[in-house]
Amino acid sequence: MPEYLFDHKHEIVEAIENADQVLLFLDYDGTLVSFKDKPNDVTTAKSVKNVLRKLIKNPKFSVFMITGRELNDIKNLLDTEGASFAALHGLQMEISDGKKFVWPNAEKSRLFLEEIKEDAFSEFKGEKGIYIEDKELTLAFHYRLLPQEKIKDAAKRFREIVEKRDDKNMLEVIKGAELLEVRPKGWNKGKATEFLLKKFAKNKNSIPIYIGDDTTDEDAFDFLKNHGTTIFVSNDSGKATSAQYWVKNPDEVLIFLKSLLDVKIKV
Ligand SMILES: [Mg+2]
Repeated sequence: MPEYLFDHKHEIVEAIENADQVLLFLDYDGTLVSFKDKPNDVTTAKSVKNVLRKLIKNPKFSVFMITGRELNDIKNLLDTEGASFAALHGLQMEISDGKKFVWPNAEKSRLFLEEIKEDAFSEFKGEKGIYIEDKELTLAFHYRLLPQEKIKDAAKRFREIVEKRDDKNMLEVIKGAELLEVRPKGWNKGKATEFLLKKFAKNKNSIPIYIGDDTTDEDAFDFLKNHGTTIFVSNDSGKATSAQYWVKNPDEVLIFLKSLLDVKIKV
């Protein structure tokens, strides 16, 4: 069971003070911002941008946005120079120095996704409450607006389309917040975090902090177990998670991030 973050703030602040570098991994939806019925309706609050900008300017912090959204989408939403991005669960990365990286297998499965997309658009055409989002390297099937009693059947039909088209078994369907998402198998936020940590941790005294709210963040929580601070965002403290700590909502995430601005820098 995770413990409430603010009951342990002293330990966390102390660890940060003693570290040479903090790699801050942040999910976006449900973590920095609250959910909206459509992902396109979301905007980043000024207060969030401000605190991120200040953290980025602080040489002790490296900020990585790690999200299911597409690269350009998250870059526009964040509107903040100097962050690094692991978009589409890390399939698409752009580092703050401008270097880009796409997981090679993601390119290979593109064709299958294209076929699934066409099938799904025609299968669910005109059905209210379903929103299919084409993210190029993944496809998201949102059912947030669908009546509860219809979700099971719609999800089953969507999964059947994927099974039919993915005869090489290159894809996987994952469950996110009120959505199913088809993505290339073998890469997830945990793998992306591992990759970024290996590449960008300056030394043994670099510490990762990961904040996320979703099942897709659990891969990262599992990877960081015992060597980082992991924070789960959920208004249900009893929800199963591999994270060490929890906070209630994006407002509490912001309070925590703001408090990092006061942490002393070791010289
Ligand atoms: Mg999220």
